[in-house]
Amino acid sequence: MQYDVIVVGAGNAALCAALMAHENGAKVLILESAPKSARGGNSFFSGGWMRFTHDGAEDLGSTFPELALTGKEDFDVLRYPDNEFFDDMASITEYRGDPELTSLVVKESRKAMEWLHAKGIRLVFTFSKQGLKHNKRYQVGGGSIAVSGGGAGLVEKLFENVEKTGIEISYQTRAIELLGIPGSCVTGVKVRNSKGEILDINAHSVVLASGGFGASAEKRTRYLGPGWDLAKLRGSEYNLGDGIDMALAFGAKSSGHWSGSHAVAWDASAPTSGDRNRGNEFSRNAYTMGIMVNKNAERFLDEGVDYSAITYGKIGTEIMRQPDSMAYQIFDSKVLDILDPNYNGRQVSKITAQSVEELAKKLDLDPIILAHTIANFNVSVDESKTFDPNCKDGKSTIGLIPKKSNWANRIDEAPYVAFPVTTGLTFTFGGVHVDEKAQIIDTQNRPIQGLFAAGELVGGIFYYSSPSGAGLTAGTVLGRTAGHQAALSVRNNYSQSK
Ligand SMILES: Cc1cc2nc3c(=O)[nH]c(=O)nc-3n(C[C@H](O)[C@H](O)[C@H](O)COP(=O)(O)OP(=O)(O)OC[C@H]3O[C@@H](n4cnc5c(N)ncnc54)[C@H](O)[C@@H]3O)c2cc1C
Repeated sequence: MQYDVIVVGAGNAALCAALMAHENGAKVLILESAPKSARGGNSFFSGGWMRFTHDGAEDLGSTFPELALTGKEDFDVLRYPDNEFFDDMASITEYRGDPELTSLVVKESRKAMEWLHAKGIRLVFTFSKQGLKHNKRYQVGGGSIAVSGGGAGLVEKLFENVEKTGIEISYQTRAIELLGIPGSCVTGVKVRNSKGEILDINAHSVVLASGGFGASAEKRTRYLGPGWDLAKLRGSEYNLGDGIDMALAFGAKSSGHWSGSHAVAWDASAPTSGDRNRGNEFSRNAYTMGIMVNKNAERFLDEGVDYSAITYGKIGTEIMRQPDSMAYQIFDSKVLDILDPNYNGRQVSKITAQSVEELAKKLDLDPIILAHTIANFNVSVDESKTFDPNCKDGKSTIGLIPKKSNWANRIDEAPYVAFPVTTGLTFTFGGVHVDEKAQIIDTQNRPIQGLFAAGELVGGIFYYSSPSGAGLTAGTVLGRTAGHQAALSVRNNYSQSK
């Protein structure tokens, strides 16, 4: 079997790479380890938020007509220029992200979105995280636009496009090894197919887009640390880190934040991996409106340091550090109606009580310590400031450790409600090093001929956390780059051999 380009994986990055390689004249094969019914990787489970640069309301409305502001008189659309996107990436990654790759993602983000739009992908404004309605007006910034239908909608549309082009997809076919001369050039992929047969498939170029290692309990423990084997997965069970392993065994240089990941507060009774029907329902991102305590009934972080849209990706890691990787989000009746809709789902783990003592008993926490924690919190609240969930209100605690910097509202009105949460792993950050052509670099800093990568398995873009919507955008940008370059390298090969 001989192809121009093999793409490993069938999530957002892979499908973008495959379509782009096809558009540039390549004969493409997609390998997907999951069965068709579980296709789409983490991209399927995602909320579909995508971050891209734009010039404000008029610009958005003229390029993406579904985002025109007709009927949305209470919307303010702020410009989102390159420098702001770059700064958001830099500050959230604590200035560790690879500047060249970050720049590529930022600069190409708009073009990538227009390309998706031309493929029938439609956008919506979305405000499920707190803090976006100021003075009764919605503020659209960098993180408030998502694909219609979420991640499932995105991948279904991409599959529709792939199927229209006639690109072959081989399901239940797991890539297990790269063929060629390690560290020099790739000539194909060894696979195990659905019948258990081991086959060599030849190609001029290979794009690895098979996700991170989040689904491997063993690798989570090895790289993220003790306890991470027990973390719940928010997404796909198939992202076992195969692409990273294959590339490293082939001489690729590793890159990025190997002990880091995006991880959120997640319903403690959620299944161990993503539920395709319930998607993101288990997210518990309204901790900014209350307090979080661990099993010792003690607070352990500043719940209000920033909007949850900024902090949510780090919260799971903080919870992982607590006894039994568990925490309880506690609210009183004053804020119950402003928690996001995920808190009112059908199967939400939720404990209600008429007193703090009763709550402690129901949660099996020490009632004296919980009462002490809440009383200490209440007396330290700055009552000179007014609580306002729609902006960083500066209503903080005074003299309390840990401080709560905003939205410090006394917890003193029954009923008291607690939501047990644990760590929900979104995706991992360690991976392979690529250049601006998405070409994998070897340990001697030379590109490996014909070998490209895109998506979660690329290291060096995210450290500590990622701004909402940046994971999919990075996957689309690098997927498009990888697909284009893979097709070009085929053409160059042909012209050299003539
Ligand atoms: C619940 C959830 C919500 C999220 N929400 C957002 C959001 O709103 N916005 C955002 O930007 N990001 C979000 N993310 C992160 C985002 O989903 C990922 O960053 C992105 O989807 C990664 O895309 P990918 O193509 O690299 O990987 P994936 O989409 O995970 O695709 C990898 C594919 O490779 C396949 N594969 C693995 N190993 C092999 C192998 N050996 N051979 C063949 N195939 C293989 C897998 O089966 C899978 O289909 C979310 C993630 C989750 C889990």
